[in-house]
Amino acid sequence: MASRPAPEAASLDSTADADLSAFREEVRSFLRERLPADLAYRPRMMMSLREDIVRWQRILAERGWGAPSWARDHGGAGWTTQQCLIFEEECVAAGTPTQDIVGQKLLGPVINQFGSAEQRAEHIAPILNGDRIWCQGFSEPEAGSDLASIRTRAERDGNVYIVNGHKALVSHAHQADWIFLLVRTHGDGHRHDGISLLLADLRSPGITVRPVPSLAGFHHLNEVILDNVRVPAGNRIGEENAGWAIARVLLDGEHAATADLPALRAYIWQLKELGGSEKVGGRLLIEQHAFAVRLARLEAELEAVAMMVARVAALEQAQDHGRAARALGSMLKLRSTDLQQRLTEFLVEALGDYGAVRGAFDNAGEDPFAPLPYFAKNIASEMFFRRGATIYGGSSEIQRVIIAKTLFNL
Ligand SMILES: Cc1cc2nc3c(=O)[nH]c(=O)nc-3n(C[C@H](O)[C@H](O)[C@H](O)COP(=O)(O)OP(=O)(O)OC[C@H]3O[C@@H](n4cnc5c(N)ncnc54)[C@H](O)[C@@H]3O)c2cc1C
Repeated sequence: MASRPAPEAASLDSTADADLSAFREEVRSFLRERLPADLAYRPRMMMSLREDIVRWQRILAERGWGAPSWARDHGGAGWTTQQCLIFEEECVAAGTPTQDIVGQKLLGPVINQFGSAEQRAEHIAPILNGDRIWCQGFSEPEAGSDLASIRTRAERDGNVYIVNGHKALVSHAHQADWIFLLVRTHGDGHRHDGISLLLADLRSPGITVRPVPSLAGFHHLNEVILDNVRVPAGNRIGEENAGWAIARVLLDGEHAATADLPALRAYIWQLKELGGSEKVGGRLLIEQHAFAVRLARLEAELEAVAMMVARVAALEQAQDHGRAARALGSMLKLRSTDLQQRLTEFLVEALGDYGAVRGAFDNAGEDPFAPLPYFAKNIASEMFFRRGATIYGGSSEIQRVIIAKTLFNL
């Protein structure tokens, strides 16, 4: 089995700043002490398996680190952008599970900003403690890029909404407890009006979650059917018919999440690991010019993406949702997802004959990859999964449209 990423795999230079160096040390010693060995380097595709997320989240919450990027007033760690990035780097190096990205990075900040006191009281603690895992129910069969054409209807009946519709391609709904839904609460007027944001318990009668097969070969996608689902009106975030503006803020937060910087860093580290262990024609890959140059270029691009992540995260912490911030988020989404695809393709190529084999995601059964590093067996799945990265969170074409509109007034 290959050695784990060396501490220097974490590349944000914190050595020049004594406080950040001390912070990095604090995180490392916490991870050494508190990350259970059987929880490290477990399979993950963007998000870890539910049981891993929950176990890890409880450990983080005990330490007061349940939500690294949230302000202290909201129950977060209150860290700066740089501290959050250091934390993520060290978590990658230590092989921790992910947190619930949807609850942490998409919904939580929106509840903190737009939710009522009752909603914050009901939903924030379970996100922090890992007691409630979330999924995002925005897209529909006829409303993906053009999200404002959603047809899922929520009709008011006293204190509840009766919701009917069909949400397509909902990541991790099968391992989530709650879903946030973009629904139509009014049929007339401009189509961006008349949309509301509702929170629904996935155990509510009338909700069916069905798996959607994907190239990646493991279950991560679902469709969610809503058939006369009764959702309390108190589960609406913000005013009725004013959900579109909130959804835009939430979608801004999705750009930094889909950048998945920890995964990008892990891919580079894995390429270095293969470069230093695999041979072609009797020579190590890393000693071969074409491999070394390609790796160096990709690593330089990774550092550029890391700088964009830091800028976007700083704008988010400042709750800046202006035009420049929106364009930067779209640029980050474009560059980072393109890089995810090129890095995973490179990894598959670097694995040679093994690159074509797809391992089992659950780590069970006989391991045909035994002579290779532990990460090898999930690489092909990872590459196929990342084909969707330029689609989910808004396709690349749509990001280009946003950049053109916001920066050039086209
Ligand atoms: C792996 C994966 C996970 C997902 N997870 C979630 C989730 O958890 N929750 C959720 O709500 N949704 C999720 N989605 C759905 C995702 O947000 C949509 O697939 C995406 O917004 C694109 O919508 P669509 O699939 O309907 O494609 P369409 O909107 O039909 O687009 C088809 C093609 O046309 C292009 N196109 C469309 N409009 C324009 C335009 N104006 N200009 C130029 N080109 C255009 C698109 O770029 C695309 O190439 C997920 C998707 C994937 C692949």
